[in-house]
Amino acid sequence: MMNETQYKRARQLVKRIYPSRSIGFALATISVASVLYEQDAGPFRWAMIVFSGLIWPHIAYWWAYRSKNPYQTEQYNQHLDAAQCGFWAVMMGFNLLPAVLSCSMLGMVLLSLGGKRRCLIGMLIYTLTAALTWLMTSIPVQLQSSLITLLASIPALLFYPLLIGYSAYRFALSANEQRKQLEMVSRTDGLSGLFNRQHWEQRVAEAFDRGQDNPDAYNLIMLDIDYFKQVNDRFGHGAGDDVIRQVARLLKEHFPQDACIGRYGGDEFGILLTNCSTTEAFSRAEKARQQVFTYLQSQSPATISLGIAELDTNSRKYSDWILQADLALYEAKRQGRNCAVCFSQQHGPQQTAKA
Ligand code: GH3
Ligand code: MG
Repeated sequence: MMNETQYKRARQLVKRIYPSRSIGFALATISVASVLYEQDAGPFRWAMIVFSGLIWPHIAYWWAYRSKNPYQTEQYNQHLDAAQCGFWAVMMGFNLLPAVLSCSMLGMVLLSLGGKRRCLIGMLIYTLTAALTWLMTSIPVQLQSSLITLLASIPALLFYPLLIGYSAYRFALSANEQRKQLEMVSRTDGLSGLFNRQHWEQRVAEAFDRGQDNPDAYNLIMLDIDYFKQVNDRFGHGAGDDVIRQVARLLKEHFPQDACIGRYGGDEFGILLTNCSTTEAFSRAEKARQQVFTYLQSQSPATISLGIAELDTNSRKYSDWILQADLALYEAKRQGRNCAVCFSQQHGPQQTAKA
């Protein structure tokens, strides 16, 4: 049984196939009709080619689109496409150009939609239908294609590969777009809209390697919302979530675009500043604290504490850098919260600003 999303996707696929099937059958019909004209075909063959070329693609679309399982029905439609190509190869007396053309058009579509297996099944159905039609009819073999048939086949020869190429291009574009969206979602924290911890740490690790030659320009700020449990307890988790969103928004507004801001977990955030001196990082941290204090006091008792650490070239791993900023943050908490503390490489955490 299909779920709602699978059902919608299946219907989208049916919609996508509809124009190429309609155009493909119409183009092939011009070529086949030229042979029927030259063979002075009777009303049965003319009625059949009108059905295949002009009516069948719409029935196929209608049938699959309304089906409870559009994927499955579309597959049956492709089998019927193959059967019709086999049928027409015989009904034209195996006239080489249109027969080969329709066979290659069928192969192109089946390969692009379902790969080798679908193509092989289609070709098997094509052959079986051709054999069956051959046994049941007495249409004489007429392999040679005339100039008229050649001219009538030009639209299909010219436009069908272009159509398939264009569909493949559009499919590649949309797949690329989906990949980008997926990448974005996989590195974003759902609640705050900031980078998630995994991506943020990866960026810190890269900055740690990059900054070894110029450590003064690389600073890390860890910040945590004060008494956040009380916000949850007093105002509910919904209000707590809202505070997290507000803090994230204020941080995004306050720090420059090239700052890498992530939600480290729970009510803790991390900010990676590059091209920024330690003095500037301190003053930005202090201003962010004041901003959160000013904007959030009306809604809840939320304030933030911050710890700042400059890149230390003596550290072996990026996680030591995060630890130093975290130690400064703990010191800010210990000193009464709602303040910013910097980590000194000689003396450990040192207070720099207090509310
Ligand atoms: P401190 O000043 O020492 O930081 O005290 P605190 O109350 O903020 O304590 P702590 O930072 O340890 O508590 C974090 C709390 O945040 C614990 C958890 O219930 C809550 N929390 C974690 N993630 C979420 C979330 O996504 N939404 C909400 N509403 N609460 C969360
Ligand atoms: Mg907290």
